[in-house]
Amino acid sequence: MQFHLDGMRPGDPELADAVASDPATDDVDILIVGCGPAGLTLAAQLSVFPEISVRIIERKSGPLEFGQADGIACRSMEMFQALGFAERVAREAYWVNEVAFWRPVHDGSPIRRAERIQDVEDDLSEMPHVILSQARIHDFLLERMGRGARRLRPDYGCELIDLTRNRGEAKVEAKFALAGEGKETGTVRAGYVVGCDGARSTVRRCMGLGFGGESARQLWGVMDILCITDFPDIRLKCAIQSADRGSVMIIPREGGYLVRLYVELDELRDGERVADREITVATVIDRARAILSPYRLEVKEVGWWSAYEIGQRVCDRFDDGTDPRIFIAGDACHTHSPKAGQGMNVAMADAFNLGWKLAAVIKGQARPELLRTYSEERRAKAKELIDFDRDMARLISERTASAEDSDRFQRYFIKHGRYTAGVEARYAPSLTTLDDTHQHLAGGLTVGRRFHSAPVVRVSDARRMELGHCLTADGRWRLILFAPDGERGLAQAGALCAFLESDPVSPLRFNPEGADPDVLLDLRAVFQMPHHEIDIAAMPALLLPRKGRHGLIDYEKVYCPDFRLGPDIFDHRGIDRQGGALVVVRPDQFVADVLPVGATDRLSRFFGRILRGGERHPVMPGAIPPPS
Ligand code: FAD
Repeated sequence: MQFHLDGMRPGDPELADAVASDPATDDVDILIVGCGPAGLTLAAQLSVFPEISVRIIERKSGPLEFGQADGIACRSMEMFQALGFAERVAREAYWVNEVAFWRPVHDGSPIRRAERIQDVEDDLSEMPHVILSQARIHDFLLERMGRGARRLRPDYGCELIDLTRNRGEAKVEAKFALAGEGKETGTVRAGYVVGCDGARSTVRRCMGLGFGGESARQLWGVMDILCITDFPDIRLKCAIQSADRGSVMIIPREGGYLVRLYVELDELRDGERVADREITVATVIDRARAILSPYRLEVKEVGWWSAYEIGQRVCDRFDDGTDPRIFIAGDACHTHSPKAGQGMNVAMADAFNLGWKLAAVIKGQARPELLRTYSEERRAKAKELIDFDRDMARLISERTASAEDSDRFQRYFIKHGRYTAGVEARYAPSLTTLDDTHQHLAGGLTVGRRFHSAPVVRVSDARRMELGHCLTADGRWRLILFAPDGERGLAQAGALCAFLESDPVSPLRFNPEGADPDVLLDLRAVFQMPHHEIDIAAMPALLLPRKGRHGLIDYEKVYCPDFRLGPDIFDHRGIDRQGGALVVVRPDQFVADVLPVGATDRLSRFFGRILRGGERHPVMPGAIPPPS
């Protein structure tokens, strides 16, 4: 990480200098409702922008301590890397390395291990698939928020009860009630409101949006337990299908002893709800024992348990119209079963998609149209997930009369490993993502998908690292030049820098007056020769930019392949060695375009549609749409 740019400063470099006191205010840029993974991810992302005022409210009296989701996909770990705490999660979490499938050999026989396979295919991500309590993820996000310049902290015990966006008024008005005897109420005025308030969202209700879909009839029990068992794969993720007693999924948990079991219970009858069944933890334990038989399960302690009805629902839109001011994210706009382990991951991905867009518009860096892409992009992903989840839940629940059914489930599970890892998400062409005309120049960096990292060596200090780890969550666009082979590479880097620095249509024309040259668009270059052969001092000025109040030189923009590992980044990501490639990466790490190194027209047209010269976005009046 980089620090000391504006002068030497002792102590924790991740603790930003505090802005002048910022008490919880009732007039803010952004109000976030709800402290689940969606709300906290959004707040953590926004906390790096000292100029943006944020308030986050939560009706519960304090942070989550137990239960709920626990699966963290590779893509979420990549996001945590960008937010600065992936290493801590990796250290504490259970790593899902292999998955075992158990089933009866023939009708009525006891379960046997059918197969044991690698969980994440090689080179899918540099990050592991891990399991860690949702509460701990909340802790890390809260910590990141608290270290920002505004030292953002949630207002607990504060429940949103109403929202109004009136024609002619600049701000959305949010009414809340404080927990306690008198149920005192108050009002916050906010430029933007984001409802991260879960499946029973008040924000969604105030927007008048329906929540279409279906409640599946299958009932599942989930419990976090400390147990003694002779089942041999208790420390592996397992999908166990019994002959006639249903299924269990075993999710080993962090710490080496805890384990989560998802246990299939019965189908609900029409009109019946979970509460009608009066399920107890003993019901869940008994069913788990029956499915695991002949293996023994002695439960010593139940840390948390719950009974679930699987429901798949998605909202028609995730914002309040063409000039959006109110948004919903996470379970507030889509729900699905926990089987595919996607709830928390997708909620965080929604927020990660929205945060940088809100920041860019509020800071006056981007046109407000940018905000419309949130609902377009994330609703398409939610619909995809719901289809996937429906198939997955059905396959898990299918009775395994035949080995064929089990095989089908196993094949489905393997085939969709990339999907559950979160790396398959692909945004369609839009304002922020171009078409794939030049995709052949970098076949492994798919336009619309997240930037797929690979190892490199940083030239200035010979540091071996993942290139993707320079894409931190700081709201900046990245322009990554994969230079053509040999001398041409240096010449092309020089020509690109000359265009960016001085051409009247360069996207850098949107840089605020007097700001560092890379505040909006961060240029990095990867050359093809070994790092010893690069003369760092001969790099163009934009690859050695002068920054901060002392005009210090940033030496961390130039990379070479890591040859220790056989194939290099150019091979791994299918980059054209002859012609090179220019890759535009959005602030949320998604590839916006792959283009020829000299295609500066395309580059300037792209940024010309999104960016604008720097005043804060004037808040336009608008109206909340009528209930549908
Ligand atoms: P949530 O995590 O639901 O967060 C919403 C937050 O908003 C809550 O803290 C809520 O108190 C707050 N809130 C709601 N209304 C208001 C209001 N009016 N004013 C202020 N605050 C408000 N997923 C799995 O994968 N496995 C599981 O076993 C599992 N178990 C779950 C058990 C429960 C009880 C729940 C609720 C969810 C479970 N999930 C599970 C789902 C997973 O936790 C969610 O998909 C994920 O948390 C979604 O995150 P979110 O931020 O969108 O919403």
